[in-house]
Amino acid sequence: LISDSEFTVEADTIIPAIGQEPDIDFIEKDAIENQQVQTRISKVYIGGDAMRGASTAINAIADGRKVAEKIIREINPATEHDQEFSLRSHDVDELMFKKSQRIRGVSPNETPLTERKNFNLVTTTLSQEEAMAESSRCLQCDLLCNVCTTVCPNLAFRSFQINPVHYKLNKLVVHENKVNVVPDMEFVVNQPYQILHLEEWCNQCGNCTTFCPTSGSPWKEKPHVYFSRTAFEESEDGYFFNTDEKCLYHLKNGQESTLIFENGQFIYQEKGVEFQLDPTTFDIRGWNIDTRKNKEFTLSTAAEMSVVWQGFQHKNQS
Ligand code: SF4
Ligand code: SF4
Repeated sequence: LISDSEFTVEADTIIPAIGQEPDIDFIEKDAIENQQVQTRISKVYIGGDAMRGASTAINAIADGRKVAEKIIREINPATEHDQEFSLRSHDVDELMFKKSQRIRGVSPNETPLTERKNFNLVTTTLSQEEAMAESSRCLQCDLLCNVCTTVCPNLAFRSFQINPVHYKLNKLVVHENKVNVVPDMEFVVNQPYQILHLEEWCNQCGNCTTFCPTSGSPWKEKPHVYFSRTAFEESEDGYFFNTDEKCLYHLKNGQESTLIFENGQFIYQEKGVEFQLDPTTFDIRGWNIDTRKNKEFTLSTAAEMSVVWQGFQHKNQS
């Protein structure tokens, strides 16, 4: 301090600036880079901006959740590795009912403006009951959105639940009159809730596009289902399920293919080939094929059809 160097600055308001760089030397550097919430000190965890730098409240909440899971596992090491710690509902009816209601959030107590001349917290934390009530308002949009099914004035969507599929698809390669089974691709659909677009009920009003939170155009992008064979045949791309034959017809770029379930297996047919397929793994059990031309026959369309197929086996959800 230099004597007599002090001076006075007039000010209406003084805003104290609080340091933005936390002193977190006690954390492994790698731990921060890998976004681990455990510090090197036992029972001390980190998350939010202190760990990742300036970020969103959503990331901070997710870190808080990870910390809570870590603590539960530390207290009870016998906890199953993949056990999910949540009160998430997987019941479609319950979720759709919840989405139809507006439940307002809990308003935390705030210190009145006249009492904020100190460093006490302005907003108090929620009680345990309030925090649980607040978190239970989550509509689980990551699991089930279905907004398009609720805003369509013509009810031109059908929502249905599937058993997620994970196929390691093979393909048939015909070369000089010989058929080889060759690994092709993985086909995965994890999202358990799917939507079909009922083409003949849609007047293309665009309402579903307006409300889709992911900027989609569901009336264009969801698989198009036709009620009548005639309308299906006039389309370029779509599905028609013949309930008498229990056969799913599909048109893609004008090419027709069929999927039928018979004697415990899927039979898939398209021009020049018939596959017999394991209904769970989609492994090729047999084939009838035209071997006169060198050609490849893949199963990606059949796999897509097997997902749509499930839409005709389950009860209508909305
Ligand atoms: S565009 Fe079709 S599917 Fe979408 S809301 Fe309008 S009528 Fe319904
Ligand atoms: S298409 Fe859009 S509105 Fe419909 S379920 Fe998907 S994200 Fe939701």
